[in-house]
Amino acid sequence: MSDKIQLIGFDGDDTLWRSEDYYRSAEARFRQIMAGYLDLGDAGMLGHLLTVERRNLRVFGYGAKGMVLSMIEAAIELTDGAIAADDIQRIIGIGRDTLAHPVELLPGIRQAVADIAAEFPVVLITKGDLFHQEAKIEQSGLADLFPRIEIVSEKDPATYRKLLAEFGIDAAGFVMIGNSLRSDAEPVLALGGWAIHMPYHVTWAHEADHGVAEGHARLRMVTAANQLPAAVAAIANA
Ligand SMILES: [Mg+2]
Repeated sequence: MSDKIQLIGFDGDDTLWRSEDYYRSAEARFRQIMAGYLDLGDAGMLGHLLTVERRNLRVFGYGAKGMVLSMIEAAIELTDGAIAADDIQRIIGIGRDTLAHPVELLPGIRQAVADIAAEFPVVLITKGDLFHQEAKIEQSGLADLFPRIEIVSEKDPATYRKLLAEFGIDAAGFVMIGNSLRSDAEPVLALGGWAIHMPYHVTWAHEADHGVAEGHARLRMVTAANQLPAAVAAIANA
């Protein structure tokens, strides 16, 4: 085995376990509440919610709590302040349920992580609400496979640069595995590292916005977790 690759990073949400599905069902419930007030097409309503969420990301960060605050703000704006207190209560309930959803591992991921961890040092790099991410990691039963776990507030080049400096590893020796081209691939490729994209069946609109060139020389794609060990090996032996 070549020693070219020194560290493999794994994303959490929608890479190790299901996540976006729960946010989609949260949006559907929000839509139902708002339908009691206005006759707005789904695109307009969810478009407004996305605008508010993006505006608030740098204040509230990622995750269900920020989503709920943005939903309340969007509801107040969309109804010109007419949203009733019991409907605000229902929106808070959406957030509570989103935070309490069961952690369901994606098919084959435990074996894939174990196989890769047998050959390379691995790290879990996940972004979002600290409290929620810690709970999901614990419930996932995967914590034993990851000697290092990093919960970050944003996945940008500065974050990855800082982590790689802490690990004492050149970007060229780092492979990041994840479902988001925006968060898991683009910043790592920009630093000179490698990325393996494993798309999830749904992508949040914010994450769908990226600047990764198709066919990037250091980007690989797999369609299922059981393809990950071979994809990592192919990079290491390239
Ligand atoms: Mg993800």
